[in-house]
Amino acid sequence: MNNLKLISDYYHFSEVFDRLIYSKKNRNNEKNTFESLKKEIEKLSIIYNKNKNNLVFADGNKNANLMVIGEAPGSVEEKMQRPFVGDAGKLLDKMLSSINLLRKDVYITNVINFRPPDNRKPTDTEIGQFYPIIKKHIELIKPKIILLLGSTALETFFKKKYSISKIRGTWLKIQINDKAYDCIPSFHPAFLLRQPDQKKFSWIDLKLIRDRLTKINSIYG
Ligand code: URA
Repeated sequence: MNNLKLISDYYHFSEVFDRLIYSKKNRNNEKNTFESLKKEIEKLSIIYNKNKNNLVFADGNKNANLMVIGEAPGSVEEKMQRPFVGDAGKLLDKMLSSINLLRKDVYITNVINFRPPDNRKPTDTEIGQFYPIIKKHIELIKPKIILLLGSTALETFFKKKYSISKIRGTWLKIQINDKAYDCIPSFHPAFLLRQPDQKKFSWIDLKLIRDRLTKINSIYG
């Protein structure tokens, strides 16, 4: 069992499996669309013993410059089938509005599209299973900036065990096929609800995003 987990993690981290799937799909000319992505995610419902009615896909604007990626839906999100609509979501709305953004101005999703049992953290194996999905999701949105909320979102793309408090507020690149996406990790709003004294750092990160979005808007209109 342990060996199986090690092998599965190896494939996630080395992206070998992903590259194999990608090149096979390219040969078959399979299109990456929101519909095909949802179908792929529905197949993963089995991991958590769920069905497609439990799927929490995304919210917001598909043409947004800013894509926000969290960890996984909680019970409120599962019920409403919308990401970030519980307490953490309310704080996220406030954080966005502090830099003059509404939900309709951004695109919001999670690494994992189903609620893990008891709201536990997704395992590395589960993250590995959803990793090709979130990458395709990014390719569909083509955001100018990706905000990674919390350590799970960060570690999904940057395989090392980073400390979010050390790396938050740093511009990084997520390479997907031939495109590099600018991203910035920051604290998860659920963490900020538990540690409100950390909000001052989150505010620094939000201002970095605001300034970059202003620059992007002045270039692209
Ligand atoms: N926490 C997350 O990471 N995502 C949600 O959608 C809700 C809470």
